[in-house]
Amino acid sequence: MDIAASTRIPAIALTGVSPAARRKLDEVEEFVQNRCIPAETVFAQQLGVETKQRFATHHSIVEDLKEEARSRGLWNLFMAKEYCEDGAGFSNLEYALMAEQLGQSFIASECMNCSAPDTGNMEVLLKYGNLEQKKEWLQPLIDGEIRSAFLMSEPDVASSDATNIQFDIKRDGKDYILNGSKWWSSGAGDPRCELYIVMGKTDPCNPNPHRQQSVILVPSRTAGITVHRMLSVFGYDDAPHGHGHITFDNVRVPTANLVLDEGRGFEIIQGRLGPGRIHHAMRCIGVAERALNLMVSRAAEPKKKPFGKMLSQHDIVMARIARARAEIDAARLVVLNAALKIDNGDPKSAIGEIAEAKILVPEVLLRVLDDAIQLFGAAGVSQDTPLAYMWASARTMRLVDGPDEVHLLQLAKRETRRASVIRQKQARQETIMAEICQDRGITRVDPLHLGWTAQTKPRL
Ligand SMILES: Cc1cc2nc3c(=O)[nH]c(=O)nc-3n(C[C@H](O)[C@H](O)[C@H](O)COP(=O)(O)OP(=O)(O)OC[C@H]3O[C@@H](n4cnc5c(N)ncnc54)[C@H](O)[C@@H]3O)c2cc1C
Repeated sequence: MDIAASTRIPAIALTGVSPAARRKLDEVEEFVQNRCIPAETVFAQQLGVETKQRFATHHSIVEDLKEEARSRGLWNLFMAKEYCEDGAGFSNLEYALMAEQLGQSFIASECMNCSAPDTGNMEVLLKYGNLEQKKEWLQPLIDGEIRSAFLMSEPDVASSDATNIQFDIKRDGKDYILNGSKWWSSGAGDPRCELYIVMGKTDPCNPNPHRQQSVILVPSRTAGITVHRMLSVFGYDDAPHGHGHITFDNVRVPTANLVLDEGRGFEIIQGRLGPGRIHHAMRCIGVAERALNLMVSRAAEPKKKPFGKMLSQHDIVMARIARARAEIDAARLVVLNAALKIDNGDPKSAIGEIAEAKILVPEVLLRVLDDAIQLFGAAGVSQDTPLAYMWASARTMRLVDGPDEVHLLQLAKRETRRASVIRQKQARQETIMAEICQDRGITRVDPLHLGWTAQTKPRL
């Protein structure tokens, strides 16, 4: 029999998870495994094949599951009590464990109102929105009645560096006038997407490049907005939410829609991304677990016996399964550590740990998925297993919320900042080493003086 998720919590994290969170974790797991995963086929069928239909339909299976999840208290689990009375009140560590379960199904996050980009957008409204903005936009998002998109990336600039953003936000009396082009606006395809949270520049000449940007709330049906097309990910359209390419042509929005003040856009996106990266990373761990389950199952499939042996009897298959197990478990610890660091401080204090998770987890997931695809042979790249779609989505994790390189660079900078301390320590050790060598009649021949090579001076 399967062991419940709460009994699989890594020992190192166990004391940080309350009994209530453990119970909820098991309920989430049960709902994902027995209600969401089996419903995926119906979801795919309801989506259909016609592009127009895929982005226009209301999927009754998801709406039904949303109702069920809400009635079972499996709703908005990501939301901290700190910002919202109605919040589930779990810590980042606790929710991270739940996000892993959500990641196992394509539809579970939405069914429990825990899907990106809505979670991050709700957090923006919770943390930075004023009362009016919360009333108008946050409540329907909390209730799962509408969906939202976060519009930062632009086609004409390197969007991994948000200071490059060109989108123009100009004040005109009681309004702002918005002009520019945005793309990869995830969620914009959903017919229920009513809100765009848009980042642009209100003060492009500000000498501080991090004070030029502002964030503004834009109803998606405002005049002057055109959704030109939906972008695909390796051919997948990610319907119904999709990734929109959108232009704004003299779009007029009241000044009351600005979040916080002019020039605070950077601060807002930074606050949005920290916990969001943990959610993404833990959902990825869930995807990896599902892939590993598929590997284990396929290796035990009696009908598939290449060269007269079950796949599980081939050493190379067993080695891949073992490596997947070890790497997933290691990656999980890295994410939970980052979640714990946020809980004990804030996203800023956990910036290094978050970067580690952001870099490592997609790498592990892609390796596991690749091995799983290999194990399934040609079926692995086809529509007959979920693996190809899982791989396509996973590959985007190396780009979204900042490409690998940005996080690698940030992490490396933090590491190399320690250089002078390390060098001082080495110099101290060098002095002590020289004294010890002299005492014992040893001549050092290591030209770099790193202490490993030595030659004994013959004693006369
Ligand atoms: C599926 C998906 C969903 C997305 N959803 C959203 C969304 O909802 N909202 C939104 O605003 N955006 C979204 N994006 C966009 C995403 O955030 C950007 O693609 C990402 O920030 C990278 O920006 P870019 O594509 O402009 O690449 P660029 O900034 O042009 O970078 C291109 C490449 O340059 C290299 N590079 C960048 N910086 C460095 C560096 N410092 N050192 C070395 N090399 C470097 C990297 O290899 C990088 O991949 C989404 C993207 C995808 C694929």
